Amino acid sequence: MRSDMLFGITEEAFSSFLLQANRRTLAETIRFFFEADDQTIEELRAWAGKARDKMYGKRVFFRALIEFSSWCKNDCYYCGLQRSNQNAVRYRLSDDEIISCCRTAYERGIRTFVLQSGEDPSYSDFRLCRLITEIKEQFPDSAVTLSVGERSPDSYQRLFDAGADRYLLRHESANEDHYRKLHPPTQRLCDRKRCLFHLKEIGYEVGTGFMVDSPDQTNETLADDFIFLRELKPDMIGIGPFIPHHDTRFAGYEFPSAKHTLILLSLIRVMLPGVLLPATTALAAADDRGFEKGLMAGANVLMPNASPLKHRDAYALYDHKPNEGKGTIEQWHQWVHWVESLGLQPDFSRGDSKMKQMDGER
Ligand code: SF4
Repeated sequence: MRSDMLFGITEEAFSSFLLQANRRTLAETIRFFFEADDQTIEELRAWAGKARDKMYGKRVFFRALIEFSSWCKNDCYYCGLQRSNQNAVRYRLSDDEIISCCRTAYERGIRTFVLQSGEDPSYSDFRLCRLITEIKEQFPDSAVTLSVGERSPDSYQRLFDAGADRYLLRHESANEDHYRKLHPPTQRLCDRKRCLFHLKEIGYEVGTGFMVDSPDQTNETLADDFIFLRELKPDMIGIGPFIPHHDTRFAGYEFPSAKHTLILLSLIRVMLPGVLLPATTALAAADDRGFEKGLMAGANVLMPNASPLKHRDAYALYDHKPNEGKGTIEQWHQWVHWVESLGLQPDFSRGDSKMKQMDGER
């Protein structure tokens, strides 16, 4: 790809190019933008902004994130909550505590609750279904998003029948070799992908995503991620810089900049304009202005942390995760103010995905 090829084409033409490109061309395109000058990246950002505005206008959706258990039976090599980490602080919230977090968010107008935990077997289907039912009864105009890992198709169905609307399950890498570098042999990419397709089939709005600049990631493995995203057509895609955790085998790994994540956010927005794209907390951990830059790169979702303050430090997936101040529910007024100052419009509604609409149009 050459820079002069970019001038004079529309973001729709570039979107079609990204949707049709083969692995090698995608990898070359990603390399091109990683090495591009500021003016070219600005052009990409402008396309991403246009693509987002056409689908969602200037709206930025808010989701309240509730991290309800730091227990996990898995051993993802990069994660501070992995089972083998003896230094991790473990906690579980009671149903009442979770509902109280929902209420705090609801009173501020937020109509999506994201319930996230490690893969904690103590949250049986029965327990989660009871919790979802209770939330839906108390806050009927709200959406419930689950992010509780790999489960059986029957389990996903039960949770859906109880009222869960959305499910987040990041694939982390769509390349088999790369996936194996990040996970133990008991965790398999094919299982992860199967779960995601099951979730879609059941009718959830599905979110996936991956870390950027993770160990052994290449432009080719990123091309595999893009190809997988094209196949799955998720409703949400969460990407953030890989930030090492000090208690993992990747301790001391280079601290990332936000640059690659911002470029990939724009490319994903142009490729799949109907997707919901968060400016993630990891992006804000890597860059003081990560939230703002993420929104300017094409993101349209923010997820203020609404977990109880006393537990936030324990939910340590990676180091330097901001748990107070910016990025939290307590900073509510500032969130609204600075989203508006970017010329964007805070939106606290459920904010459903437009991917189905986009699918229908194609
Ligand atoms: S990334 Fe998720 S599944 Fe993996 S160890 Fe951490 S909390 Fe568990």
